[in-house]
Amino acid sequence: MPAERNGGTAVCPGSYDPVTNGHLDIIGRASNVFDHVVVGVVNQPVRKQKTLFDASERVAFIAEQVAEYGNVQVKPFDTLLVDFAREHGAKAIVKGLRAISDFEYEFEMNQLNRKMAPDIESIYFMAAPEYSFLSSSGIKELAMFGGDISGLVPDRVAARLQEELKR
Ligand code: ADP
Repeated sequence: MPAERNGGTAVCPGSYDPVTNGHLDIIGRASNVFDHVVVGVVNQPVRKQKTLFDASERVAFIAEQVAEYGNVQVKPFDTLLVDFAREHGAKAIVKGLRAISDFEYEFEMNQLNRKMAPDIESIYFMAAPEYSFLSSSGIKELAMFGGDISGLVPDRVAARLQEELKR
């Protein structure tokens, strides 16, 4: 018998520019725990420069990979994260934690989100060891200098990265 999920909806937010296998690992694990997962793709990230891929393409990359789960939706958003979570009736925000460096930023965001929405719990999944070094910005850098990114991002993402970075 398959293990039971804990119920409810979780939101997995990020800029996903582009999605990596590390992100997909977190989303897949969240889909095992929650009844529904909504991946929220930040339309215009505040703390980062202009994205390489537009929101609709970033959404499409993820949607293609999560279709098989059956309980994961992917949507762009440009409101406050807690408002996006409320809109979807989510009781949790799920994020991945890689190194100590993620912790500081997440700790600060956690306090802010908690203040605005004490009813929504943030939950952190530890990065899988094989992906704990993987970031979207690292992938873009690797791709730009001709590094091998196979096995780190979906094939279609790797192909589109090569195209974009050739320009
Ligand atoms: P990035 O930091 O790669 O630009 P995002 O802003 O899109 O990523 O982050 C979305 C979420 O995914 C964040 O919670 C981030 O900590 C997490 N995350 C990013 N890369 C990984 C990874 N390789 N393993 C686990 N979690 C990750």
